[in-house]
Amino acid sequence: MHCPNCGSQHIQMRHMGKKTGGVTGAIAGGLAGLEGAAAGALTGSVIPVVGTIAGGLIGFLSGACAGAVAGSLAGEQLDGTVFDEYSCTQCEHIFSAP
Ligand SMILES: [Zn+2]
Repeated sequence: MHCPNCGSQHIQMRHMGKKTGGVTGAIAGGLAGLEGAAAGALTGSVIPVVGTIAGGLIGFLSGACAGAVAGSLAGEQLDGTVFDEYSCTQCEHIFSAP
């Protein structure tokens, strides 16, 4: 594997899709988690205060985690297809695997 632009062997994997997907998913999951938090708080309010807080927290965290995992998985599918996969550390040329 070498840079098609300058021939350098100093190549980096980029994983743009995975990173972008993970962040996007975490944000989307966080927003969905807020709904989960409201639902959790409502369910948890059977036991006042403790249940409301615990229910809200669990709802929010599970939503945010699920979103981050789903986003990162979706982003991983884009790596090497939509996003370029390698970058040259010498000339910063970006290219995908042959
Ligand atoms: Zn290069």
